[in-house]
Amino acid sequence: MASPTIGVFALQGDVREHLHVLRALGARTLAVRRPEELEQCDGLVLPGGESTTMYKLARAFDLFDPLVERIAGGMPTFGTCAGMIMLADRIEDGIAGQETLGGLDITVRRNAFGRQVDSFEGPLQFDGFDAPVRGVFIRAPWVEEVGDDVEVLATIPSGQAAGRIVAVRQQHLMATSFHPEVGTDDRIHRYFVDLVSQS
Ligand code: GLN
Repeated sequence: MASPTIGVFALQGDVREHLHVLRALGARTLAVRRPEELEQCDGLVLPGGESTTMYKLARAFDLFDPLVERIAGGMPTFGTCAGMIMLADRIEDGIAGQETLGGLDITVRRNAFGRQVDSFEGPLQFDGFDAPVRGVFIRAPWVEEVGDDVEVLATIPSGQAAGRIVAVRQQHLMATSFHPEVGTDDRIHRYFVDLVSQS
């Protein structure tokens, strides 16, 4: 695929930042609010924001079921933070009735790093990259448990949360607890654009 069309789920979350990085990498981009827009996408980003709001709005705008279908049907999808929660098959500390789109065989814990360390950043070794990435965490989830087919791409290197999983991939799906759309390092988006181009 020469220049894939990559959508960003745009009912809620930090949509603009993702659109900006994806465009700079040469992808055609689309803000996705309706099923017709989703149909045009070769790949999709689920941004950071608030997963409890995202699932409600996805329901309200009739985007929930089409998203589940496309994700299950093999559309490459990248979830960051709240987007990771949306892609997870199982959540801990969700609100009552909180639904996810699912697809990734992981259990995530919402707001896992606790109140005192709501937001923080630090270097992370990301699988396959020579130099570390800067992980920006904002009320982030971590991955509590992964299924057999899930590759772990990054973990917290030190401190109280040392060893916690913060980036994963399972075939056409990938997710990070942190926000790679913040800052100037585009390597993780490039990784995703390549994944879309190759599929
Ligand atoms: N805490 C948010 C949630 O549960 C995620 C935060 C984020 O995306 N920065 O959805």
